[in-house]
Amino acid sequence: MNNAIAVQTRQYCQLIAGEWVNADDGDAFDDMNPYSGEVFARIPASGSAEVQRAVEAAHKAFPAWAAMGARERQALFLKAADILERRADEVVLIMAQETGTATPFARFQIQWASGLLRQAAGYPYLPGGEIVQSDTPGVFAMAVRRPLGVVAGISPWNGALALGFRTIVAPLACGNTVVLKPSEEAPVSAGLLMGEIMTEAGFPAGVVNVVTHAPGAVGPIADHLFESRKVRAYNFTGSSATGALLAARAGKHLKRIALELGGYNPMIVLKDADLDYAVDTAVFAAFFHQGQICMNTRKILVERSRYEDFLARFAARAHDIKPGDPSDPRNKIGPLINDAAARKVMQAIKQAVDKGARIVAGGGSEGRCVEPTVLVDVPRDAPIHCEEVFGPVVIVQPFDTEQEAVDEANGTDYGLTASIMTADVWQGITLGGRIQAGMVNVNGPTMGGEPQIPFGGVKDSGWARFGRWAIDTFSDLNLITVSNDKRRYPL
Ligand code: NAD
Repeated sequence: MNNAIAVQTRQYCQLIAGEWVNADDGDAFDDMNPYSGEVFARIPASGSAEVQRAVEAAHKAFPAWAAMGARERQALFLKAADILERRADEVVLIMAQETGTATPFARFQIQWASGLLRQAAGYPYLPGGEIVQSDTPGVFAMAVRRPLGVVAGISPWNGALALGFRTIVAPLACGNTVVLKPSEEAPVSAGLLMGEIMTEAGFPAGVVNVVTHAPGAVGPIADHLFESRKVRAYNFTGSSATGALLAARAGKHLKRIALELGGYNPMIVLKDADLDYAVDTAVFAAFFHQGQICMNTRKILVERSRYEDFLARFAARAHDIKPGDPSDPRNKIGPLINDAAARKVMQAIKQAVDKGARIVAGGGSEGRCVEPTVLVDVPRDAPIHCEEVFGPVVIVQPFDTEQEAVDEANGTDYGLTASIMTADVWQGITLGGRIQAGMVNVNGPTMGGEPQIPFGGVKDSGWARFGRWAIDTFSDLNLITVSNDKRRYPL
């Protein structure tokens, strides 16, 4: 078969060395639709043998891929973007059925990922290094960018399509080959779709490999990816806990790992802010994709004189948003990814309420659908006060001084994004400089991101940067010198 999916049965294969194959022992697992609870697809449940073959294939494909001319490589990325756009309607449906993604976020991701592919198409034409001045007479020195080899990509389920592509595109555009291991919660949207699109675009066999595994069975695959000397670097997006574990594993072998991790993103509303716009922004930033985006706003800090007004308007808007079937385009938000995720969110709400917090909107759930929930008076010892709870829950609290807002905003181990709403842009910029976050948006939501920005966090949110800065991560800088004159040596 030359395609990952047989539509009627939704039996998927994985991509190894340009072939669509089952797991060696034919084992497969159920990939569930989080809204209906039905089986969306059957996915190969692989282990170490399959990933070993994928790494071998990527290793074998590397020299020819690294040597391919810029024009030829560029054409492949451009074609992949066209294919993704051509398949947009189908991809929207797959994302709804596999990951509970409602139409607006699915369409955003398609547009984002095709932009990423088109921008990466230009990478092969960027300067491949620079001339370095030498103090030695007659020596000409060059710093030259070179690909690393095989890069292993580990993608999450939440922004499945955008992040599946982000996991492989920059490494590929730098001349590396990849083995992509998507999340077991989104093996199609965060992995097999990338394999299908890149294969159809004409990426040579072995350049892109995708290996899938059953829930709870990442161990043998991770062991091979981290122990193999043939894998030279990792591109990881996921939780901070997993990121810390994998950074230690990569560090053991002195290998490079790009980390894009969790967030606990504050929004600060100053007293001079346009309150209608601040409410609109907060609603979008807190509840888009039912709060399952690393950049969702988790805490809203409002200057005390505007607090009651903001809270009343924001809670009313939150109350009006109802989760529903994401494959119906009228629904703006859908279910959480699985039962455990919904349970975790409901527990975090209960824990906060038990400690004295008040619910001013939402607080209920039906199955995996959790209502947009607004909490106030959340005590400091409730975990949700500073820890990422991955769902549609947000805290609102007043502040009196800027210093207090800064301390609250920075009072978390994370540092991904922040937003500041104010009529005084310079005050916003100055305040933004005091927030420990990789990205600060003045008069914009904590959420957003375009493919070309230096996306990334600080502190426990990781250290990777995307956009053209990813080139630094996914290539080596090698020095080559040429001595035009005979050199004189002290010995
Ligand atoms: P996760 O850490 O549970 O899983 C991410 C990936 O790591 C999956 O592919 C999973 O199979 C794999 N994994 C898990 N344990 C592993 C192990 N021991 N060895 C090797 N691989 C392992 O995260 P998730 O639940 O998929 O994603 C949600 C988290 O990701 C949230 O914390 C969110 O904030 C974060 N996230 C960050 C960004 C960003 O760009 N900063 C983007 C999206 C999501």
